[in-house]
Amino acid sequence: MKGRDILAKVSRISDETEFYTPLPDGYRLGQCRYVIVVGTVISGLGKGIFSSSLAKLLKDKGLNVAPIKLEGYLNIDSGTLNPYRHGEVFVLDDGKECDMDLGTYERMLDQDLCSDNFTTSGQILTEVLEKERRGSYLGRDVQMIPHVTGEVKMKLRTLALRSKADVVFVEIGGTVGDYENAYYIEAARELAYEEGPGRVCFVALTYVLTPKTLGEQKSKAAQLGVKRLMEMGIQPQIIACRASDPVTEKVRQKISIYTNVPLERVVSMHDRESIYMIPDQLRQAGIDSQVLQLLELTDRVSRKADKDARAKWDDFVRHITQASGQVTIGITGKYTAVRDSYASILKALEHAGTAAGAKVFTRWIDTTDASSANVRELLEGVQGIIVPGGFGTRGAEGKIACIEYARNHKLPYLGLCLGFQMAVLEFARNVCGLSAANSTEFDPDCAEPVIDILPEQKKIEGLGANMRLGGQDIDIVPGTLAAELFDNAEHIRLRFRHRYEVDPKYIDLLTKGGLIFSGRHPVHPIMQILELSRDVHPFFVGTQAHPCLTSRPLRPSPMFTGLVEAALKLVKKEKGG
Ligand code: GLN
Repeated sequence: MKGRDILAKVSRISDETEFYTPLPDGYRLGQCRYVIVVGTVISGLGKGIFSSSLAKLLKDKGLNVAPIKLEGYLNIDSGTLNPYRHGEVFVLDDGKECDMDLGTYERMLDQDLCSDNFTTSGQILTEVLEKERRGSYLGRDVQMIPHVTGEVKMKLRTLALRSKADVVFVEIGGTVGDYENAYYIEAARELAYEEGPGRVCFVALTYVLTPKTLGEQKSKAAQLGVKRLMEMGIQPQIIACRASDPVTEKVRQKISIYTNVPLERVVSMHDRESIYMIPDQLRQAGIDSQVLQLLELTDRVSRKADKDARAKWDDFVRHITQASGQVTIGITGKYTAVRDSYASILKALEHAGTAAGAKVFTRWIDTTDASSANVRELLEGVQGIIVPGGFGTRGAEGKIACIEYARNHKLPYLGLCLGFQMAVLEFARNVCGLSAANSTEFDPDCAEPVIDILPEQKKIEGLGANMRLGGQDIDIVPGTLAAELFDNAEHIRLRFRHRYEVDPKYIDLLTKGGLIFSGRHPVHPIMQILELSRDVHPFFVGTQAHPCLTSRPLRPSPMFTGLVEAALKLVKKEKGG
């Protein structure tokens, strides 16, 4: 009997065996393939970029792929994390709040993901402890191995089964040697043993240092990092070397000798102008065919699908570098120094710029001290403004001053979530004469709570007093700018993450003043998109949603494209064209 068959027999929980490998119903060992990506030496190597780029190459060849990110921290999800420390909170259509890497996967693969594609130690351990309380372990002492690792394998296999993936891409957070990620690596080792040869491929990302004083690439840290992985019982099949410049053949040879990985599978993954160039870099290094061989999938490849997908992608990448125009968009924000907290916005601008033929530069605008007295100076040289999502009072009045300036000076404006609410407040105060208009998020006792928590509506939607999260349908009002942007679609779907909204009792007043609510909830009076008539402003749009979360390289968000195109027109006008 083969190892796999034995395991299939003992996969049910029993007190007569030391094995603990719960399998989802209908799962067959050895049927799905797994690529496990781990990092060594330092964190922040771009495991998600590597993993999503490789997954894309396989998807382009007609294979079904499903990524999963395993996070080491004990939070149940990313909802409570400070974006300043951990990058933006990415929201999936099913409402899952997760790591920003999931955004990289969705964009690279042009594929919607769900809760199955993300987990944390907090979630895994909660499930184990809940099972323990239910008595599901039949009197056994519950241990990290095999029970917690068993739960990790269950997650991976459940994803494989539900997504019908040919290949599951597993990204293990952190770095080999981190205490908190060790059991994920152990689970991956067990998975490879159980699934059998040719079913699991390990990729180690490593870092090749170039000390300034020496001026040459050094491989020792990389060697030691991979060795650490091997000490855990894992022989990687592929090593991707991160570095700022292409990794020299000599350095690759050294790494190859010390790690038993053939030279052709030790590849350079050096910095590129855009992450969207990484798939081609990996393809040129032959990594996609190596993985297909290792996982015995070569005969499943569709050459036609590959050719078609590559043609479209190459065209997109060519446009990134060949933009003829350029615009500068100002982004107001609290986390002005941390680009990662606005990752999706920056990506959406890149996609929109590529589609509109413009290189988009961004300027961070700290609104903490902004007021009508200095706003002109602050916005000098920008051809458009984004007020992005956010929480809390800081800089709120400064944002309103920027919006007022944009409205009065026909400067293209896009308000996202908080930026939508701020635009409503600005309009209520300065156009409708409601000088006390405010949000109860900033002043719970304000006289005119135009933006407020509306528990009755939340109850209708079944979300209690929590945040309204995830994908929601929006009805678009025909004949509006929103309708034009979305190709006259009557309904669209965007993703949300907010607690406050426009109080319906002010809608009449705002509308009479000239504010157009062009996107609404299909049933309830929840305002989702606003705009000003094009007779008074070239591009003034706000949305309670986060359209940046669903912007994809080949399908940019129309709201962002609209903003960039309006900014381009302004550049032409400034040049007198
Ligand atoms: N703070 C606002 C709210 O909770 C906006 C949230 C956001 O911008 N994501 O409604």
